[in-house]
Amino acid sequence: MKSADLLILGAAQVVTLDGGGEAACRGADEMNAVHAIADGAIAIRRGKVVDVGSTNEMLHRWHALQRIHCRGRTVLPGFVDAHTHPVFARGREDEFAMRCRGADYEAILAAGGGIHASARATRAARQGDLTRLVRERFDSMLRHGTVAVEAKSGYGLSTRSELASLRAIRSAAARHPITAVRTFLGAHVVPEEYSGRRRAYVDLIVNEMLPRVASGRLAKFCDVFVEQGAFTVREGGRILRAAHALGLRGKVHADQFRDGGGARLAARMRAVSVEHVDATDAAGMRALARARVVPVLLPSASLFTGLTHVPNARALIEAGCAVALATDFNPGTSPTENLQLVASLGCSLLKMTPEEVIVAITRNAAAACGLEDSHGRIAIGRPAHLVIIDAPSYVHIPYRMGTNLVHQVLVSGRVVVEDGRLKD
Ligand SMILES: [Zn+2]
Repeated sequence: MKSADLLILGAAQVVTLDGGGEAACRGADEMNAVHAIADGAIAIRRGKVVDVGSTNEMLHRWHALQRIHCRGRTVLPGFVDAHTHPVFARGREDEFAMRCRGADYEAILAAGGGIHASARATRAARQGDLTRLVRERFDSMLRHGTVAVEAKSGYGLSTRSELASLRAIRSAAARHPITAVRTFLGAHVVPEEYSGRRRAYVDLIVNEMLPRVASGRLAKFCDVFVEQGAFTVREGGRILRAAHALGLRGKVHADQFRDGGGARLAARMRAVSVEHVDATDAAGMRALARARVVPVLLPSASLFTGLTHVPNARALIEAGCAVALATDFNPGTSPTENLQLVASLGCSLLKMTPEEVIVAITRNAAAACGLEDSHGRIAIGRPAHLVIIDAPSYVHIPYRMGTNLVHQVLVSGRVVVEDGRLKD
């Protein structure tokens, strides 16, 4: 008998997502090859998985002082939210209520709403308050089973406020169980005071913001919003080239409302991921697959804004892409921290299979934020980042639409959520 620190026993299923050698699962065959170990068990030592198998086998091989009896629950890799905007000073529920009463976008802007409202409030906020807000949002994500998150700046839109936003993410993640990957999104929108002077704002990003972000090691990725009303393909390319030169990898918000060439830019620039891609054409999809750019689809944003634009997940998967799903958590178009809901929308709105949506919020999401070596699967030698759900199979995650099924969350083998509540 070998000794472990912790044995997890009696799981209705242990879903390892560990097949195949590559970082992400590409295309329908790989994304549907989900293997579940019935009556499964996991042995953990020093925070890492040391064995996975059936409960019977594991009880013959391992002993441990600490045991978790799953009693028919299901164990999966902790979820990875590959696209969030968690740094903003206040919600936009007033604008939401206006929209529900029939106000259009122009009326909301005239009443001081929209993304510029978020920027004004975020600029006025104290760093400590931003950090506290981001930490509270991370707490909620963790309670919903998310163990790693890609977190963007992008509501500061000035050098001082963008740097403060990235520092708020860093401070919030320090001593928090969640792993946060920081992305600089100074190119979210041209701020109000630069209207009519967009070139000057792109100059500011390239000449001042990016060098400060890089020298302070404040971000791993640089994202650009390539869309009508935001930035052009040419401006996006310029920003991403400057980011590459400073050691930051690219991400592109692209083709949310129409195919404006953003996905092709992401492929040309070898971006790690491309976001939204609601309107990308077939050639753009093939370019993404060839360049191994992970499309990160955001169906909760589509739902919340009235389903006018929905990504074609099936065509992306058939083109051979490794599709990921994320919440797009933000105050305007997707105020949810619940990746389980997003998985459900992946099935109902995007016509993905239960297997595909599980891969899309774990292994493929980890690849979309450069966490493929530590997150997204359960395998020997990897950190034990696990979620235990109150259901007898992984299919319940998309099936139980909007319900938080999380019973326990483990980060590096330590229980951080118990009975749906955070442990101190
Ligand atoms: Zn976004």
